[in-house]
Amino acid sequence: MSVPVFDLNSAILSSIGLTLTQVLVLLIFGAYQQRSLIMHWVRGLLVFGLGLAVYFISVTSFVRGRHSAYIAASVTIISLGISLFVNGIRLLRGYRVYRYRSLVVVTSLLAGNAIMLNMYSPERWVLLFNLTALMWVFAHGTRSLIGHGKDFIAHVYWLCCSLFASITLMLAVLWLKLALSEASALQTFSQWSTHAYMMLAIMLIISSVTSLLLLVMHVRAQAGLQAIATMDGLTGVLNRRGLQEAATRMQSVSQRLRLPMGMLMVDLDYFKKVNDVYGHLVGDVVLKSCAGIIRAALRGGDVIGRYGGEEFCILMPNTGEHEAMILAERIRRIIEETPVNVAGVESMSNETQAIKCTVSVGSVSSETVGYALEGLFSAADQNLYKAKTNGRNRIISNVDALQAKPMEEGKPAKRHASLIALKTRV
Ligand code: GH3
Ligand code: MG
Ligand code: MG
Repeated sequence: MSVPVFDLNSAILSSIGLTLTQVLVLLIFGAYQQRSLIMHWVRGLLVFGLGLAVYFISVTSFVRGRHSAYIAASVTIISLGISLFVNGIRLLRGYRVYRYRSLVVVTSLLAGNAIMLNMYSPERWVLLFNLTALMWVFAHGTRSLIGHGKDFIAHVYWLCCSLFASITLMLAVLWLKLALSEASALQTFSQWSTHAYMMLAIMLIISSVTSLLLLVMHVRAQAGLQAIATMDGLTGVLNRRGLQEAATRMQSVSQRLRLPMGMLMVDLDYFKKVNDVYGHLVGDVVLKSCAGIIRAALRGGDVIGRYGGEEFCILMPNTGEHEAMILAERIRRIIEETPVNVAGVESMSNETQAIKCTVSVGSVSSETVGYALEGLFSAADQNLYKAKTNGRNRIISNVDALQAKPMEEGKPAKRHASLIALKTRV
């Protein structure tokens, strides 16, 4: 049984068809997302398709005798197309785009080919030179697709990277085959069956990479929407929904590892007055600044969210009553000592440069109220309420209840031994 031979003409024509289909898909996608980036790929694929068309002319009978010149022209155009495509990939990844590199590739190819063709260099040299340039372009693409990290997107990049690497490898094999073949075999270069299969494989890989890159864009857009949905627009900290999600995650990890989890409820004192005296615009600036000040005072791993209008909630992993109380006091002191700069806010008179604020804080930890989130939220709220009724600008914690309560099994009893007992204003 003879193996059917796939001819180069059909391979090139199907590749051109596939390229145009990809362009169409990209244009539809680009109509509603990241148009400028998509246009890089569209331009790259169109130029690539043009290169294929020139290549098609070169392998058809009517240009016999000028074979090398056509191959040189088509490889130059294809290299430019792939270069533009790779620029789009670099743009997607936030890498620096070296536009001059495409120019350097094209100029070197044009100059090299012009010299070789004018000097009637052997066809083998012309082909090897062009293949080397093409290999360089694909190798550059391979480098730009290396994945970083271990998330889904990194894996997709690794897949694209290996696909591009396999093209480079295929071209290297063809390069070797060309270099080692008999001079007579070169005459039938365009009829080599490996040539046709390779052409199709390259096109399929480019289409797969394009689809995978669109998938990356989609996943990133989804993640962006998710971030927006859980973020507070004014202060930049988590909103109520994001806070709830973070609290659920932290609670389950803390409970599984039998580590305490702390929670602070922080409320600005007499904030209504700030709005009434200086206006809402200034109130917004104060709110934003306070959120920033509190965020800067937190440790790595702590989470802050806006619980209500001028009320923030802080979640602290591996934090017992004592540590929660220490952090609560630190936040209270920092806010008291850091006036918020409001100079330059439109509605401000020139005399007021800064506004002094204070906060009341309700502090609890799972050590005294357990891991149930409702229990933690309500205990922190109750302590905040007590801090307000006791005169504001103070913290209330459950640290006394901790002393009354015997240590639960599995609790790290030693962890608080070295902590300095803070003088709370209870
Ligand atoms: P307390 O010390 O008891 O907390 O008094 P307070 O005035 O801070 O509390 P109250 O609950 O009486 O008022 C909260 C104010 O916070 C009322 C509301 O207009 C203001 N506020 C809530 N959200 C925003 C916001 O996004 N921007 C501004 N500028 N003000 C806000
Ligand atoms: Mg308040
Ligand atoms: Mg409030």
